[in-house]
Amino acid sequence: MTRHRAQRPHNDDPIPASARAGVSRGLVAIVGRPNVGKSTLFNRLAGAKIAIVHDEPGVTRDRNYADAFARGVEYTIVDTGGFDPESDDPMRKGIKRHVQVAIEEADVIVCVLDGSMEPTAADREAVKLLRKSQKPVIYAANKADSQAAELEAAAVYRLGIPKIFPVSALHGRGFADLEEAIVEALPAYEDRELPGVGDDVPRIALIGRPNAGKSSLLNRMLGTERSLVDDRPGTTRDTVDALVKVKRKAVSPTGERSNDGEETEQALVVLDTAGIRRKSRVSETVESVSVLRAIRAIERAEVVVLMCDAGEGVAEQDAKILGLAVERGRGVVIALNKTDLLDKKALAKAEESAREKLSFTPWAPVERLSVKTGRGVNNLVDRIVHVRKEWTKRIGTGELNRFFAEVLETHPPPTMGGRAVRLYYITQAESRPPTFVVQTNEPENVHFSYQRFIQNQIRKRFGFEGTPIRIRYRRKRRRGEEA
Ligand code: GDP
Ligand code: GDP
Repeated sequence: MTRHRAQRPHNDDPIPASARAGVSRGLVAIVGRPNVGKSTLFNRLAGAKIAIVHDEPGVTRDRNYADAFARGVEYTIVDTGGFDPESDDPMRKGIKRHVQVAIEEADVIVCVLDGSMEPTAADREAVKLLRKSQKPVIYAANKADSQAAELEAAAVYRLGIPKIFPVSALHGRGFADLEEAIVEALPAYEDRELPGVGDDVPRIALIGRPNAGKSSLLNRMLGTERSLVDDRPGTTRDTVDALVKVKRKAVSPTGERSNDGEETEQALVVLDTAGIRRKSRVSETVESVSVLRAIRAIERAEVVVLMCDAGEGVAEQDAKILGLAVERGRGVVIALNKTDLLDKKALAKAEESAREKLSFTPWAPVERLSVKTGRGVNNLVDRIVHVRKEWTKRIGTGELNRFFAEVLETHPPPTMGGRAVRLYYITQAESRPPTFVVQTNEPENVHFSYQRFIQNQIRKRFGFEGTPIRIRYRRKRRRGEEA
């Protein structure tokens, strides 16, 4: 059988619409008890994307979620079983929990069963929960490596599921049909677009582990005035985005905020406030719930605010989520909360440790605040607005090339493998996030450390605080060559 698999977009391609802030990718969760082949199936769906080289060095990547691409549609897949070690517990409690997480947060659920054996109690439990849910569920009978094995997979029909996709995650058998079913079950892009609230209102995702102070901050920002911009009753998820107007004293041109100054308002859209407020129905400690929520919010955000309890510090999960935000090209601000509980020395230590753990974003601002006392909240808001501005900023080609010529003159690119590398010209092809294209004779031979040097020079000259920037090196076309 020939498989017509769409080519995934090349790194050089313009950023696809689905990857832009404002349109979220669909989220597909893979569930099933241990050993049915979830991670094998996950890897196959992720395909080449899993090895994608990202522009940001040192970004922590997590293999529990990945980008996938099929039939022209991009989506995010998550192996919910991979998040909590306890969910690998073959007991039913484990499976129940991770299936519920998927039901709460995913757009589409792929339930993996082992077609080579009789269904177990855990399988029955999972199917029971899934059949009651409102979400589209695709059932895959895995390990159907051959025609004969496929017939054997018929045992899973005893679970009473009307449609089952026999697949072999190991060999790729049945994946064309499986991917088609996934793509068809995903909500249409239009349903995933953000409602318009004015182009200059930053859309932020407030993320961080439970108890960092996210809902406290949201409450403070909401104050008495609140209006919900999005409460889509037609959708299965209760996504509620809030338009908040933070009142604060105007900052004078010298940067001071005087108490008798004029009061101004800054509008922000805080995404998925339901997710921030709703303490998990599943269990207070399930990390995967907050991770899935964070992923969802990041997809739709322009600026991601990572909130941490300064006393507790930055956790690995925080770093992973922030890494995802950077991969997705979102602006980021790190907020160290509960500073009222720490003295000056402890606070300096906390900030140092946070920077160390998030060393892949040295350009991300760290704001200290106490939601409890209100100290630092206005600064955080100002910083968010600033980062959003940097994220959308465009540098003119003339200015950019004057700068570029200076850099090249003082630090020409090193020769690589005996080949003289020439950089001719730079343009900013995109913003949101800022993306540059450099014309060169040797795109493969621009040394990594030199690429980093160029990136640092751009930041030094033009700022871009809080936003990832991307620089693509492209072969300069000769005259007469087709574009
Ligand atoms: P998970 O615990 O559900 O994530 O399962 P894994 O993906 O780790 O797979 C469990 C075992 O099943 C591994 O030994 C895999 O190599 C094997 N396996 C996964 N998919 C297939 C398949 O399609 N056919 C066969 N024969 N074995 C598979
Ligand atoms: P979330 O889980 O991230 O939404 O965190 P919450 O907003 O529910 O806050 C968790 C706990 O931390 C609550 O008891 C808050 O009152 C408390 N809290 C939040 N911000 C601060 C702060 O700045 N200082 C102190 N001391 N406690 C805070």
